[in-house]
Amino acid sequence: MEKLSNPQKTIEVIQKYEFAFQKKFGQNFLIDGHVLHKIIASAEISADDFVLEIGPGIGTMTQYLAEAAGHVLAVEIDRMLIPILQETLQAYDNIEILNEDVLKVDIGRIVEEKNGGRPIKVVANLPYYITTPIIMGLLEQHVPVESITVMVQKEVAQRMQAQPGTKDYGALSLAVQYYCDPYIVANVPPNCFMPRPKVGSAVIRLTTHEHPPVKTQNEELMFRIIRDSFNQRRKTLVNGLHNSQTLSFSKEQILEALEQLGVAPSVRGETLTLAQFARLADILDDMRSRT
Ligand code: SAM
Repeated sequence: MEKLSNPQKTIEVIQKYEFAFQKKFGQNFLIDGHVLHKIIASAEISADDFVLEIGPGIGTMTQYLAEAAGHVLAVEIDRMLIPILQETLQAYDNIEILNEDVLKVDIGRIVEEKNGGRPIKVVANLPYYITTPIIMGLLEQHVPVESITVMVQKEVAQRMQAQPGTKDYGALSLAVQYYCDPYIVANVPPNCFMPRPKVGSAVIRLTTHEHPPVKTQNEELMFRIIRDSFNQRRKTLVNGLHNSQTLSFSKEQILEALEQLGVAPSVRGETLTLAQFARLADILDDMRSRT
């Protein structure tokens, strides 16, 4: 079967259908077979797997996925691509194409209905404008997902994997690391795509934890504290939390909580580990229930 990742083949398909790339949909199609092999290998796809692909484009990655997986569900927003996909992928009987905005699809229900609730694997060359809502949506809604192997903007991959005290560390690092173990598989230059994106890209694999690595009695409060701590990066944690729009702790309470946590009153959010944020949330949650 001729591979769509061959640049000549991609051009042929685009010309045949007079397809016009839509910037607003983040359309940068992969044209490098090595990168595709690497993605499929690192996602460890086998014939038992149900794979969700977000944004199949003209079906370049879908082809590789269909050859390795048991079943592939590909969700594509651009209706102009649907007739193209129906032709390019006609040789495969294990692919289902859904013409929807992935952010509006109830993936949890699909997993229940189509895979008996068993965890799926997500593999995609993501549209970069909605990387974070897609990934956080899957994680926060507790969709049964074994792993998420995706192409994202290089900087975003670095932020997901960042450790405390580094410049890339922030709310996204903590949120991703609460749910998954992130691992950057490869950096991918712009010339592997058509058209070429203006930014560098990276493939990242997020393997979901069976249980979060830290325990907190109030997950929602912990994430609110994390968001507010990084809202004003240069501020101390005390000021960040005190200026919060949604939390209402006094300066004294926050200082007391930091003392209980065993950190300096001048500490900044970017130095705290996930375990420390979980503990801080518990301390503040206890204080709130006392008042
Ligand atoms: N998988 C293809 C490839 O690697 O060549 C295309 C990847 S391209 C970076 C992103 C794809 O996501 C495009 O096909 C785009 O139309 C689609 N897309 C953009 N926003 C979407 C959304 N909200 N829901 C589903 N698909 C979307």
